[in-house]
Amino acid sequence: MEQSAALLVIDMLNDFVLPGAPLEVPKAREIIPAIRKRIDDAHKAGIPVIYVCDAHGRDDPEFKIWPPHAVKGSEGARIIDDLAPGASDLILEKTTYSAFFGTDLERILRERGITKLILVGILTNICVFFTAADAVMRGFEVEVPRDSVASTSDEEHRFALAQMEKVLRVSIT
Ligand code: ZN
Repeated sequence: MEQSAALLVIDMLNDFVLPGAPLEVPKAREIIPAIRKRIDDAHKAGIPVIYVCDAHGRDDPEFKIWPPHAVKGSEGARIIDDLAPGASDLILEKTTYSAFFGTDLERILRERGITKLILVGILTNICVFFTAADAVMRGFEVEVPRDSVASTSDEEHRFALAQMEKVLRVSIT
């Protein structure tokens, strides 16, 4: 990972990852070790680690589409213990699928001279996908390591990876 990169850890929150969670993504638990290693490697290499986390209001419009989840300040909105952020990591709250929408992410990246994003977390076809799309449209280079993203089904996972590669020129590694 080069110095101008940042690692974005997307939505690895209790409400998506823990067994029985409101929006449980069972496959999310399988990618924890790979993400843990990427975070550790980024720390060693001095690469910024930015956690991007759903943080919804109690009557968030998204709850018309999904059951209530990741309500701001709740236990469910917390990052899972296995991937607890380090002191130097940034945590950015978002209210919809893209990490760029209504957040300071672009300013933070530009200020630090970051030109490349490595996206890990969930779901491949939703928050990872829309964040990748917004990043590419803003001129960032994007890499998605396939062992560090997951979705509810293999079909959605595979389609999203293929779509990102073909339409966005995301580097799927
Ligand atoms: Zn959400």
